[in-house]
Amino acid sequence: MHSLGIVASVVLSLQSGLPSDPRDPMPSPWKDPGFAKFLWIQSPNFGPRPEGAIVDTVVVHSTVIPTLEQTTNAFLRESSQVSAHFTIGRDGSYVMHVSTFDRAWHAGVSVDPNGRTNLNHYSIGIELVNLNDGKQPYPKEQVQVLKWIIAGLKRRFPLKQIVSHEFIAVPAGRKSDPAGFPWESLKDLNLPMYFGKNPATDKS
Ligand SMILES: [Zn+2]
Repeated sequence: MHSLGIVASVVLSLQSGLPSDPRDPMPSPWKDPGFAKFLWIQSPNFGPRPEGAIVDTVVVHSTVIPTLEQTTNAFLRESSQVSAHFTIGRDGSYVMHVSTFDRAWHAGVSVDPNGRTNLNHYSIGIELVNLNDGKQPYPKEQVQVLKWIIAGLKRRFPLKQIVSHEFIAVPAGRKSDPAGFPWESLKDLNLPMYFGKNPATDKS
């Protein structure tokens, strides 16, 4: 009976959804948490912000990767050397990958509307799960959660602008995300928004 009991508990633990490798933070099996619910799955791809840096910018991205699970996996791989603070799935589920107090690696070589470079120092990066083909829509649940997250960040940080990755990426044309995003849906946040091509860097 004793050994049967051990077998039964092993079977139970296999069925309970616990990660098989305790170093693997991905829930197994994966399940999107649901509208406005989140998981915090820490990415190794982050560092400290520079001394005295003031967080004042939100950078909006789209993943190109088709799911929240695959995006979370990509940000967990140290070899990818990329992350963002948040990724919002198509149903409004979201994952936090990096604390907003830390510097995530999402903007790359970049310049903002004031000519300031290296936006990762000063910004919060939010990814939207979208193919970035300019055709796939951004569901209203996803946009709603984006608005809630930015509204919350506005109370914590002196935000002065929302920018698209496309607008800040250097050289111009290096990025096109978030393609097809409905920017007018963020106007209630009352923050200046910069998206599309940046006339200061785009000479085409
Ligand atoms: Zn991007």
